[in-house]
Amino acid sequence: MSDEPTLPDATAGPIVQLDLREPHRHLVRVTLHLTPRCLQPELRLPAWTPGSYLIRDYVRTLEGLEVFQGETPVSTSRLSAAGWRLQLTALDPLVVHYRLQATELSVRTCHLSADHGFLALAGVVLQVSGERWHPHRLELRLPEGWQAFVPLPGAGEGAWIASDFDRLIDSPVEVGPHPWHRFQVAGVPHRWVTWGGDQPADDPAWLADVEQVALACCRLMGETAPASHDYLFVLHLLDGGYGGLEHDHASVLQYGRRALAAPGGRRKLLQLVAHEYLHQWNVRRLRPAELTPIDYDRVTIVPGLWFAEGVTSYLDLLLPLAAGLGTEADLLQDLGADLSRYLLTPGRRVQGLRQSAEEAWVKLYRQDASSADSQISYYLKGAVVALVLDLHLRRHGSCLPVVLRELWRSHGTWGRGYRNEDLITAFAGQAADLAELLPLWLESTDDPDLSGYLADLGLALVPKPASEAFLGWQLEEAPAQAMLLKRVHRDGPAERARLQAGDELLALDGQRLRRPEDLTTAFGSTSTPGERQLLYCRDGRVRTTRLQPDPPAVASWQLLVDPQLESEPARRKRKRWQALQP
Ligand SMILES: [Zn+2]
Repeated sequence: MSDEPTLPDATAGPIVQLDLREPHRHLVRVTLHLTPRCLQPELRLPAWTPGSYLIRDYVRTLEGLEVFQGETPVSTSRLSAAGWRLQLTALDPLVVHYRLQATELSVRTCHLSADHGFLALAGVVLQVSGERWHPHRLELRLPEGWQAFVPLPGAGEGAWIASDFDRLIDSPVEVGPHPWHRFQVAGVPHRWVTWGGDQPADDPAWLADVEQVALACCRLMGETAPASHDYLFVLHLLDGGYGGLEHDHASVLQYGRRALAAPGGRRKLLQLVAHEYLHQWNVRRLRPAELTPIDYDRVTIVPGLWFAEGVTSYLDLLLPLAAGLGTEADLLQDLGADLSRYLLTPGRRVQGLRQSAEEAWVKLYRQDASSADSQISYYLKGAVVALVLDLHLRRHGSCLPVVLRELWRSHGTWGRGYRNEDLITAFAGQAADLAELLPLWLESTDDPDLSGYLADLGLALVPKPASEAFLGWQLEEAPAQAMLLKRVHRDGPAERARLQAGDELLALDGQRLRRPEDLTTAFGSTSTPGERQLLYCRDGRVRTTRLQPDPPAVASWQLLVDPQLESEPARRKRKRWQALQP
């Protein structure tokens, strides 16, 4: 980019210049050039970013807003926490300056450090009234030796063009001196860039496996090529962490180095790749009507999130196997772990699936000590209902991928948003009884008939009992000195003993408690369950209580091939299920 940008005329949109040349100060310097279309234009910073349903108030990182026409400062009045109105006397070109503190490292926030920069542009670019559907030009200034990875068409050195504001906001920006690789999926160019390592170089089969998973996604959608014509993967390989965010032309992934090195770690990263890549269709281009178009300023209730996230979470387990990678045993282990997590979450008795989707903004992204008792993730229960739908449809000679393809044809390819009712109609089109069953599964807090459906495939869920008495509490994972309660189960022994999250355990029957292992020793299967005296500390005051443990509970569930249900037809059904075929 040059110092003097070509100022936009009334037919072009804004120019967004981002200066990242002081990365160690974590400051993004933003300059916006535009020609106003009215005398009182409004500027608003989005409150959230699509794909992550939480009001993030990105404006809290913004400072030093100034607006000029030529040399003359323009007066601004604040409309809301994230909005300003300008008072102009002429439609001469405007320059807007501000800075952003970029210190939050996630796939949906901004982080600029001496090592790299990542920008979720919803937290960076002001929406200017009247400019949303006009092209936006992005220009970046980088530290020496850094390179930018932007899923937008290039417009010269350090510049890119987004067809409108939405396309710009949907373009994650990664910058740094990172290794990167090119590959193709069905002839479509793809880039892979890693910050914090070099996954493709460390694992030479990686890109070929990603390509196979991407091709399996295309086949699943009934397409010969991806929906994007130029795709970018950004991987943040960190000490710990996990997450992903989908875009029309990109996936941003966060993953832990230790998790990657652990058994099954590579497989789970491949599932994350499959998940975000499949979102290219399911939720991005095949989109809930409530997000068509997106309101960046406020909460939008999206009942269909169960489909967008649940179906994608279920299919991301199957896609690597459908791509010829992994084994049936891996699939049963991973699906079994999800089913186990579901069955061990008491909140599923409190919150239904549709309710979970509608409450995403205030519950899923804002977990606290009582969340497991009062809510169920629409990712997790959505995946369970997706499994049940898939197996129900198979009894009718169809399957979940058929419904997904139908919806893609009827809504996605036309850019027509779907409502929850459209989903029910599409499922009922393949199995008429789903017109009644699916609404029930979406509203009810009862479990669907999991064992009945799994038996169709010769599979059974087998409980694994815990080795020690049930105390109805969960400790903080990394107790430094103190043993603190992270969670107290509803209706459990700890709750009956009047304990609460945050309490510090001090001693049991006069014996000092120092490590979690001390509890295992005290409550192991060899010890006699009976009332115990517990000394604990709350709010700086030491107290005592009597704790009556319950018998050992189910520690987990395993999904296994049941020898009594196994048969040649069940085996054949399982193969077709794993191949995503009816
Ligand atoms: Zn997702």
